[in-house]
Amino acid sequence: MVGHNYKNLIKSFKDLFVEDSLIDVSDGWYIMVLNVLNIISSHNNIKNSEIKVLSIKSKFGRLRIYLSEYDDYLDGVLDAFEKQSFYICERCGNQVLSSGFGTLCLKCK
Ligand SMILES: [Zn+2]
Repeated sequence: MVGHNYKNLIKSFKDLFVEDSLIDVSDGWYIMVLNVLNIISSHNNIKNSEIKVLSIKSKFGRLRIYLSEYDDYLDGVLDAFEKQSFYICERCGNQVLSSGFGTLCLKCK
Protein backbone atom coordinates (compact mmCIF):
# COMPACT_ATOMS: atom_id res chain seq x y z
CA MET A 1 0.00 0.00 0.00
CA VAL A 2 1.25 3.45 -0.87
CA GLY A 3 -0.15 6.24 1.30
CA HIS A 4 -1.59 9.34 -0.28
CA ASN A 5 1.43 11.49 0.58
CA TYR A 6 3.80 9.02 -1.00
CA LYS A 7 1.77 8.89 -4.21
CA ASN A 8 2.31 12.63 -4.52
CA LEU A 9 6.02 12.18 -3.85
CA ILE A 10 6.29 9.64 -6.65
CA LYS A 11 4.64 12.19 -8.95
CA SER A 12 6.94 14.99 -7.80
CA PHE A 13 10.06 12.89 -8.32
CA LYS A 14 8.90 10.89 -11.31
CA ASP A 15 12.40 10.90 -12.86
CA LEU A 16 13.64 8.91 -9.85
CA PHE A 17 11.12 6.09 -10.05
CA VAL A 18 10.51 3.18 -12.40
CA GLU A 19 7.17 1.53 -13.03
CA ASP A 20 7.62 -1.11 -10.32
CA SER A 21 9.10 1.20 -7.70
CA LEU A 22 7.66 0.65 -4.25
CA ILE A 23 7.33 2.89 -1.21
CA ASP A 24 6.23 0.79 1.73
CA VAL A 25 6.79 2.87 4.88
CA SER A 26 4.35 4.69 7.14
CA ASP A 27 3.71 8.43 7.21
CA GLY A 28 6.01 9.13 10.18
CA TRP A 29 8.99 8.81 7.87
CA TYR A 30 7.59 11.10 5.20
CA ILE A 31 10.03 13.95 5.87
CA MET A 32 13.00 11.61 5.82
CA VAL A 33 11.85 10.10 2.53
CA LEU A 34 11.30 13.57 1.06
CA ASN A 35 14.79 14.64 2.15
CA VAL A 36 16.53 11.58 0.78
CA LEU A 37 14.71 11.90 -2.57
CA ASN A 38 15.83 15.52 -2.81
CA ILE A 39 19.43 14.48 -2.19
CA ILE A 40 19.34 11.64 -4.75
CA SER A 41 17.71 13.95 -7.29
CA SER A 42 20.33 16.69 -6.91
CA HIS A 43 23.09 14.07 -6.95
CA ASN A 44 21.76 12.85 -10.30
CA ASN A 45 21.74 16.42 -11.60
CA ILE A 46 25.29 17.13 -10.47
CA LYS A 47 26.70 13.82 -11.71
CA ASN A 48 24.52 13.74 -14.81
CA SER A 49 23.47 10.23 -13.78
CA GLU A 50 20.09 8.50 -13.84
CA ILE A 51 20.08 6.50 -10.65
CA LYS A 52 16.59 5.19 -9.87
CA VAL A 53 14.86 4.39 -6.61
CA LEU A 54 13.65 0.79 -6.73
CA SER A 55 12.12 0.52 -3.30
CA ILE A 56 11.81 2.25 0.05
CA LYS A 57 10.98 -0.10 2.91
CA SER A 58 11.05 -0.56 6.61
CA LYS A 59 13.31 -3.46 7.48
CA PHE A 60 13.94 -4.37 11.12
CA GLY A 61 12.60 -0.93 12.05
CA ARG A 62 15.05 0.89 9.80
CA LEU A 63 14.55 2.86 6.63
CA ARG A 64 16.01 0.85 3.77
CA ILE A 65 16.32 2.36 0.32
CA TYR A 66 17.26 0.28 -2.69
CA LEU A 67 18.66 1.99 -5.78
CA SER A 68 19.49 0.90 -9.31
CA GLU A 69 23.12 1.92 -8.69
CA TYR A 70 25.21 3.05 -5.78
CA ASP A 71 28.34 5.10 -5.30
CA ASP A 72 30.36 6.10 -2.24
CA TYR A 73 28.40 9.30 -1.75
CA LEU A 74 24.98 7.63 -1.88
CA ASP A 75 26.19 4.75 0.32
CA GLY A 76 27.01 7.36 2.96
CA VAL A 77 23.71 9.18 2.53
CA LEU A 78 21.61 6.01 2.77
CA ASP A 79 23.56 4.83 5.79
CA ALA A 80 22.97 8.15 7.57
CA PHE A 81 19.22 8.07 6.90
CA GLU A 82 19.02 4.45 7.99
CA LYS A 83 20.64 5.37 11.30
CA GLN A 84 18.41 8.42 11.72
CA SER A 85 15.29 6.32 11.13
CA PHE A 86 16.04 4.31 14.22
CA TYR A 87 15.16 7.38 16.30
CA ILE A 88 12.03 8.52 14.47
CA CYS A 89 8.65 6.87 15.06
CA GLU A 90 7.58 5.24 11.83
CA ARG A 91 3.91 5.93 12.52
CA CYS A 92 3.80 9.53 13.82
CA GLY A 93 7.27 11.00 13.25
CA ASN A 94 7.95 11.66 16.93
CA GLN A 95 11.37 11.14 18.38
CA VAL A 96 12.08 7.68 19.75
CA LEU A 97 14.52 7.86 22.64
CA SER A 98 15.38 4.23 23.09
CA SER A 99 14.38 1.73 20.53
CA GLY A 100 13.74 -1.96 20.79
CA PHE A 101 12.69 -4.00 17.83
CA GLY A 102 10.85 -1.83 15.35
CA THR A 103 10.63 1.93 15.48
CA LEU A 104 7.57 3.20 17.33
CA CYS A 105 7.39 5.87 20.03
CA LEU A 106 5.85 5.05 23.43
CA LYS A 107 2.51 6.57 22.35
CA CYS A 108 2.26 4.40 19.24
CA LYS A 109 3.44 1.14 20.83
ZN1 LIG B 1 4.62 7.48 17.36
